[in-house]
Amino acid sequence: MDQETEKNLKTDDLKKKAKRYEAIKLIVGITESVLSFVVLLLFLLGGYSVQLRDYVQGITANPYWQFLLYSAILGAGLSVITVPFSFFSGFYLEHRYGLSNQTIFGWLWEKTKTFLVGLVVILPVALIFYFLLLHYPKTWWLWISIVLFIVSVILGRIAPQVILPLFYKFEPIDNPELKERMERLAKNANFRLQGVYRFNMSKDTKKANAAFTGMGKSKRIIIGDTLLENYSVDEIEAVFAHEVGHYWHKHLHKLLIWGTVETFVGFYLVALLYQWLLGLMGFHSPADLAALPLITLILTIYTLIVSPISNTLSRHCERQADRYAVEHSSDPLALATALEKLSAQNLTDAEPHPLVEFLFHSHPSVQSRVRMVREFVEKERMEMAKDK
Ligand SMILES: [Zn+2]
Repeated sequence: MDQETEKNLKTDDLKKKAKRYEAIKLIVGITESVLSFVVLLLFLLGGYSVQLRDYVQGITANPYWQFLLYSAILGAGLSVITVPFSFFSGFYLEHRYGLSNQTIFGWLWEKTKTFLVGLVVILPVALIFYFLLLHYPKTWWLWISIVLFIVSVILGRIAPQVILPLFYKFEPIDNPELKERMERLAKNANFRLQGVYRFNMSKDTKKANAAFTGMGKSKRIIIGDTLLENYSVDEIEAVFAHEVGHYWHKHLHKLLIWGTVETFVGFYLVALLYQWLLGLMGFHSPADLAALPLITLILTIYTLIVSPISNTLSRHCERQADRYAVEHSSDPLALATALEKLSAQNLTDAEPHPLVEFLFHSHPSVQSRVRMVREFVEKERMEMAKDK
């Protein structure tokens, strides 16, 4: 067998492996969502929700304690379904495909931290939500949307300094050549670079990634050590330029506006449907604890309907960032090789089914991204030739 055939066979194997890995993840994710939905629906329709409400009302007379107790018991019940799925996808599958560096204790510790951070954020929001349901039965949807908008802005602002360091260690990037190239790119985009940080992704995974995070003064670009160590300077520069492209096109702000519209419309529709179903199901007040699963169920369906729209928007932003990267990096082809390497390293299916991409993917397929880069470079070359 010559070297070329051997290499092709290897890539074919890798492609098949990535397809299998992604298919399993997708099926597991869909199964979990459907199962949780059906269980919650049965919990509501089977009268168990009313039983749980009566039970917590027997324990305390305070409506907020009742709400917290009801939610905690229901949440613990649902975690019987969600935790095994999370273990399968987040631990077992990652090891099976050779992608994880985590021990079981490491995984449990990360999960515990995520749960605690979530609790700190969700608890006050949930209490405000219940307060609004109790006191503003007609306009609660408007107030909770405003609260969620404020919370998401605060979270966006503090994430790089307060939340992410709970999970990773951040260090400024020290490679002088890389730094110089990054500063040049940032200056070109009027991006006041607060810093480019390396973070220790490798403690958990063999996958690589980079991101643009934060808002206002906290905005920064973070790059995984798994990327910094295995990619050429040209490739890292291209990935960095892609992130700068997100900044240049103001994607964070655009996605925040879209998210806000989505939240306001969503809660308005939820409130309408909820009010209607309450009457049909014999509940008397929107703050009736036994009726609350209805809100979750309606929200789940709403999210299912709008998430392809969000994903389409996101893929559009990714293409813009790619184009920006190709136009501004020292080696325009480096983005293509970086994307191919990332796809192999992270086991992403480079050619997903178009329907799967449309419904679930926030990024365009690697195949189409690489094609765009190559076409762009080819066009440039032709134009150069014409000028001569
Ligand atoms: Zn991106």
